[in-house]
Amino acid sequence: MKKELADKLRLEYEHLWHDSMLAVPDGWIDPLVAMLDKLYALSEVDRSMSFDSEGLATWVKIRIEVSSTHSAAYVTPLEPAGEWRPGRALACIDALSEFARQCSKTCSICGLPGAPDGNSMRCAEHAAVEPQVSRSQRLYQEVRDLFPEVDGKAIDLNVPDHLFDLVASTLRSILKVVERYDIVGKVFITKIEMDGEALFVRVRYVDLTYVFLGAQMEINEMISDLEMLSDEATRKHNLGGSDAS
Ligand SMILES: [Zn+2]
Repeated sequence: MKKELADKLRLEYEHLWHDSMLAVPDGWIDPLVAMLDKLYALSEVDRSMSFDSEGLATWVKIRIEVSSTHSAAYVTPLEPAGEWRPGRALACIDALSEFARQCSKTCSICGLPGAPDGNSMRCAEHAAVEPQVSRSQRLYQEVRDLFPEVDGKAIDLNVPDHLFDLVASTLRSILKVVERYDIVGKVFITKIEMDGEALFVRVRYVDLTYVFLGAQMEINEMISDLEMLSDEATRKHNLGGSDAS
């Protein structure tokens, strides 16, 4: 962000500001400010007349991590757990996740709605100048909420050509289920690989309570369907040689 804006924000959100926010690109300033506003006003959430002192306390210390496709905020609580009210803690989490969520669908140059374009978040206008990326990279970015954060090797979506559309549509469907049940971060595809001729997909559920059994069953079924349809597609592919599509 530009220096003058940084100076202004530093002044305005004195106790929340951290220099890691300097790395936030211009297009993501609005989500950043929206988050700072919410964190600034945490004292007002669930305020208890008998326990809370007057005025606004600073509840968290923030650090921002920015990459070309997304941005995330991390906080450390400054007040002991006993001082937090459930509503306040939730408001804090909501502010953080909304920030990440907004950045992940906003052009980092201009702030218009955007989509992953290879290694960056771009609107239609700014995407035009970006080099083409492979469809597997594009798919990876599109459904990346389904993959665990990894330091090393990412999930490899370079499946054989005749399986790509199947894999892509299944991953999109799973993501829809995950979003519908609001369980992003609790469902991870940890493996997509060819075991000989067979496609093999593994899913892991993290802290998913029985309430979401329905979602789990839906996803398990999608994956076993995918594996079955892949076997069929591979068989046809091997038999025919010529691909109709
Ligand atoms: Zn743009």
